[in-house]
Amino acid sequence: SRIVKIFGVKFDQLTFDEAYAKFVQYMADDTTQSIFTPNSEIVMKADEDSEFKAVLNSGDLVIPDGIGVILASKINGLGLTERVPGIEMMGRILEYCNLAGKSIYLFGGKPGVAEIAAENIQKSFPNLKVVGYRDGYFEAKESPKILDAINEVKPDVLFVALGAPKQELWIHKNQKLLNTKVAMGVGGALDVYAG
Ligand code: UDP
Repeated sequence: SRIVKIFGVKFDQLTFDEAYAKFVQYMADDTTQSIFTPNSEIVMKADEDSEFKAVLNSGDLVIPDGIGVILASKINGLGLTERVPGIEMMGRILEYCNLAGKSIYLFGGKPGVAEIAAENIQKSFPNLKVVGYRDGYFEAKESPKILDAINEVKPDVLFVALGAPKQELWIHKNQKLLNTKVAMGVGGALDVYAG
C-alpha cells in the first residue's frame, strides 16, 4: 500500500476495511507481522526519539489511530483520510478469530487486568481461544521467559498492551522469534475489555 509520512512516521494509506484485509492476509502467512496504531501523541513522542521512530517505521501495518493524525495529514495534503482506531481494529480481529476459531494471547496491563479482559473476551467471543495472558509489569531480564511462554501456546494473534513506546519496542525486539501470525500493540485496550 501507499506510504504516507507524518513527522517522519510512516502510515499505510488504507481505509479501515483495507487495513483489516491486510490482517486477514497476515493470518495466512508463516511469519509474524506487526501492527502498530500510533495516535498524534505517539507521533510527537517518536519525533523526539529516533529509536522509537525507527521501530514504528519497521511496522508491517501502521494505521492512524486518532483524528490528530488525520488532521495533520489533511493540513499537509498527504492523503490520509480515514481514522483506523486500534480499539475498533482489535474488535474486528476478535470477531475474525471467533468466526475462524483462532487463538489469542493477551499481554499487558496491571496485574489482574489481562485475566479479567480474557474472561470478558471469552464470554463475548466463545469460539475463539484465549490461550494465555499475563500482566505488563516485568524486568527486562524476564522478557525471554515471556517470549517462551507465548511461543509455547502459539497464539495466532498476540495483543501487546504495554503502552507506547514499550509495546512497539517489545514487538520489534521479538518479532523474528515469535511463533504467532500477528503481534499488535493495543495500548490501554485490555483496561477497556476488563471494564
Ligand atoms: N502498561 C504495562 N506495562 C508498563 C506500562 C504500562 O502493561 O510497563 C500498561 C498500562 O497498565 C495500560 C497500558 O499499558 O494498560 C497503557 O495504556 P495507555 O492508554 O497509556 O497506552 P498508550 O496511549 O501509551 O498507547
